[in-house]
Formats: sequence, C-alpha cells, structure tokens
Amino acid sequence: MLPAVGQPQLRIVTGQELPRPERTLTHMNSSLSQQAYEQLRRRIVELEFAPGAVLREDELRELLGIGRTPIREALQRLDREHFVSVVPRQGIFVAGIEVGELAMLFETRAVLEPYAARLAAVRGSAEHWDTMEAVLATTDPAAAAADGNALLAIDRHCHELMWQAADNRFLLDTLDMLYAQSDRLWHLYLADVADPAHAVGEHQAILEALRSGDADAAGDLVEAHVASFDAEVRQAVTARLESPLAG
Ligand SMILES: [Zn+2]
Repeated sequence: MLPAVGQPQLRIVTGQELPRPERTLTHMNSSLSQQAYEQLRRRIVELEFAPGAVLREDELRELLGIGRTPIREALQRLDREHFVSVVPRQGIFVAGIEVGELAMLFETRAVLEPYAARLAAVRGSAEHWDTMEAVLATTDPAAAAADGNALLAIDRHCHELMWQAADNRFLLDTLDMLYAQSDRLWHLYLADVADPAHAVGEHQAILEALRSGDADAAGDLVEAHVASFDAEVRQAVTARLESPLAG
C-alpha cells in the first residue's frame, strides 16, 4: 500500500521485509559452515583426525562435499576453540592436548555445568525432562556396557537437554565446546579402560532433581558428576605419562 500524501515516510522495517535472496544465501552459508564445523569436530573428537595430524582444505572439501567458504569458517571456529591450529604459511594442524590445559578445561566445566543445572531446574519444562527420561530409558545396561560410545552418546544427549533447558545461548555454546574437548580426552585416554555406565546412571538422579525444580540438588549432583569424570581422565592421563609405553 502506498503511503497517503502527507503521511510520515518512516516506517519500521520488519524482518520479513529485508532483502530475501541475500538473507537466504547467508543463512545457507552459515548452516553449511555449521555442518562443516560439526562434522570436522566429530572427527577430531573421535580421533579419526589425530592430534598433530595435518588437515588440507582441499581434502576436507572433497571429504565433506562442502565448499571453500563454509570449510574455512568452520576451521576458523575450530581454531578459536582450540581443536585445530591454523598456522599461516604452514598449514592446519589438529591441536594437541597440553596437560596444563586439562586443569583449565576441568575448572571451567566444574563451574559452568552445575550452573547450567541450576538454571535448568528453574527454567526447564516437562518436555525437556520427558525427553531426558526417554533417552535414559533407551539404555540397555548389558548391551551398552559393551559399547562405550553408545553410553557417551546418551550422556551427551542428557547434557544437551540440560543446556537447552537452561535457556542461555552463550552458556549452551560454551558448554557444548567444553564437552567436546572433554569427550576428546575420553577417546584419547579412557576409551579402552573406563566404563561410563556409572556416569550415565548418575543422570537418573540428576533428572529427578531437575524435574522437581530443586536447583541446589541438581547443581550438587552435576558438580559431583563432572568432578568424577574429570578425576577419571586425570588419573588416566597421569598413568599414561608415567608409563608412556602402556598406551
Ligand atoms: Zn554426564
């Protein structure tokens, strides 16, 4: 509709009136770079790309079937998050894990995971907790005990639901990245020795605290849960360092 003569020409531009094609393109790009990020990170976490390995952009493009720009964006983000190191004129390397960084990783998770649990207990909905219950119910203890990766996937899913329930995008992004770093350590040091079944078992009690809205209980349980996982990794790392030939 044309504005009547004499009416103010200023108007509020709503999102829907923004130039469409450009928006769609940007959106597609960002979702491709998100896809590239997730796929590359998964390969790094699961050690398909080992620490120190050299990554080549053209090979990654071929492997993922994703174009140059999204791959570059994904690599930049992985660089910022310490999964890779982009060294100008030398190449892209899968980041090593410095022992000194373990403490930083653990102390950050030790504060943020319980904090997310507290928020989740207050802000989460029945839908979150029903989904978490369903995720936990899929655990067949006998079958899962033989498959650490399946258990870890359940653990991860429970954490994701908790982060979503906490309803803070910045917290979610940070915890997602920290969990992935921690997951990578599990694959590096614990995959052969540890049984994450008890860790998944702990999520049952955490779920009950979250569902009942008990922020203190949820925070305490998650604090203990994260601490016991981290202690296990620390022990495994120490053992490995003392006996480098063992693994
Ligand atoms: Zn967990």
